[in-house]
Amino acid sequence: MENYFVALNNINVNGKTEKKNSLTYLSWAWAWGEVKKLHPDATYTIYENEAGWNYHTDGRTCWVKTGVTVNGVEHIEYLPVMDFKNKSIPLDLVTSFDVNKAIQRSLTKAVARHGLGLYIYAGEDLPEEEKANEPVCICEACQNQISSVKKRDGEIWGVADIVGYSKRRFDRQLCPDCQKKALKEEQSK
Ligand SMILES: [Zn+2]
Repeated sequence: MENYFVALNNINVNGKTEKKNSLTYLSWAWAWGEVKKLHPDATYTIYENEAGWNYHTDGRTCWVKTGVTVNGVEHIEYLPVMDFKNKSIPLDLVTSFDVNKAIQRSLTKAVARHGLGLYIYAGEDLPEEEKANEPVCICEACQNQISSVKKRDGEIWGVADIVGYSKRRFDRQLCPDCQKKALKEEQSK
């Protein structure tokens, strides 16, 4: 069973991901289904605090702790409870919805440590904090949030630079994909 990681790592997760606020997530329900197919004895744990809450707090911010056990190995994952800008939500503003979302993401990340969809996290070029500090900008064409991209030379093209360039070049705030479309439209004129 030492190849269980490879087996999970080889599962194609394309089309099972969703992109939210510059972070890519794997669907937890789908990921867990795949794990259980190969490992019916796999289990997961949502760790409660001493009061029996499904999240933890230092009085200011909150986080969740989850663990996924596959093949007798448990991987534990801690994740802050974050808002749509990927910023920690203060304790007094946290809702059960926010906590549930954090739990699902945390579980999915714990599953990734067993191999399934690991590349999604390997592709996180920017540390979490840097991402959280990026401005939130919406593309005027597709209405999606603009996120930083990796250029062909491997450099990161940050959100502020993307927007600056787009406004100079197209007179509008466009995401890189819509910039490409705009260029094609220009050329076909
Ligand atoms: Zn766009």
